[in-house]
Amino acid sequence: MRKPIIAGNWKMFKTSSEAVSFLAEVKGKAEIDGVESVICAPFTALPSLVKAAEGTTIAIGAQNVHYEDSGAYTGEISGGMLKELGVKYVIVGHSERRAYFGETDEIVNKKVHAAFRHGLTPIVCVGEKLEEREAGQTKEVCRVQTEGALQGLSAAQAAEVVIAYEPIWAIGTGKSSTAADAEDVIAYIRSVVKDLFGQSTADAIRIQYGGSVKPANVAEYLGQPNIDGALVGGASLEPASYVQLIEGAK
Ligand code: PEP
Repeated sequence: MRKPIIAGNWKMFKTSSEAVSFLAEVKGKAEIDGVESVICAPFTALPSLVKAAEGTTIAIGAQNVHYEDSGAYTGEISGGMLKELGVKYVIVGHSERRAYFGETDEIVNKKVHAAFRHGLTPIVCVGEKLEEREAGQTKEVCRVQTEGALQGLSAAQAAEVVIAYEPIWAIGTGKSSTAADAEDVIAYIRSVVKDLFGQSTADAIRIQYGGSVKPANVAEYLGQPNIDGALVGGASLEPASYVQLIEGAK
């Protein structure tokens, strides 16, 4: 059985001390048997957050990683640097990074491989733009992005990946995909994984929905057979709301 996974994506919010206060508030409450709880924080908050999460079941993730292990890449952070901090997950290919920082499917794929080289679990984001949805291209876009991201992985590695299906028009807009629409696309993404790696990998890989998920609608998404969790931006920033998201995933 796939364990549901709720991951908060804090984007460029929260200083290190704000992150530690948040963790103190959710400790104990955002730790529920049968649900994996992950916080993906800005780089600067990661060391103190990993320390604050010690002894809890809350895992800490980064929001980006460079694809090389070291080198003259001013301002970048490598997988080894994250691993040494005790970071477990890393978001790769978020639509904001694809849109504002020029991340292509090829770069996303290199980052996925970098994550595995350093023992990090990638949360790979895929999803269509509004105009692509309106042109009936949703599944094709998701197929190309999924195939691109997972290229060159072994079946065992692919089974470890978390995919986040995030329709771009639903991110931070308050507009969310219906649970039925999200289920339809996510079931399709699982079939793409099956075509690439076989049935057992498709059965094992966890696929989240993301896009204006909140405490009020999280259970509806998680109630769908193929939706294994949520990647949540805005609603993950308040401790009470984050706890409710974890509770709603049970
Ligand atoms: C996200 O940042 O990945 C996201 C889905 O944001 P929001 O929940 O705010 O739509």
